[in-house]
Amino acid sequence: MVAVSACLLGLNCRYEGDHRRSVDTQEILNRLQCKNVVPFCPEVNILGAPREPIDLFRFHDRIEAVGRESKRVYTKKIELEAERFKKSFDSVNLFIFKSKSPSCALCSAKVYTPEGAVMEKRASGIFAKKMKIWYKDAKFMEI
Ligand code: SF4
Repeated sequence: MVAVSACLLGLNCRYEGDHRRSVDTQEILNRLQCKNVVPFCPEVNILGAPREPIDLFRFHDRIEAVGRESKRVYTKKIELEAERFKKSFDSVNLFIFKSKSPSCALCSAKVYTPEGAVMEKRASGIFAKKMKIWYKDAKFMEI
């Protein structure tokens, strides 16, 4: 089974109501001849689309996902989406994540200081971080 950030498959689940359909993702799926593809989008499940964008901020020892306009903290909700995914799909061989996303990035998300300065550009998104911990035998990539 291959799990893929839904926006890479052409679903309009991004915050602006758009997608990021990816030819590279489709090529990988074609090459793998994979019939069992599971799309996921933690943010659209929580907030729908369109929605306010989310940014990652470091507060002391914790990284939080914060709504850009509302300043609401969505970290726990994204983590609950990760748990829901894990309960539904216990066997995933490959994850293909959307890069730079505060939820889905494997190693390319920006993290800001509470004052709004960029302090890191290679963080994992909240959802991806959980997947890396839980799916020890899976492979991971981002596009
Ligand atoms: S990057 Fe992840 S959270 Fe953002 S739209 Fe794509 S699937 Fe949804």
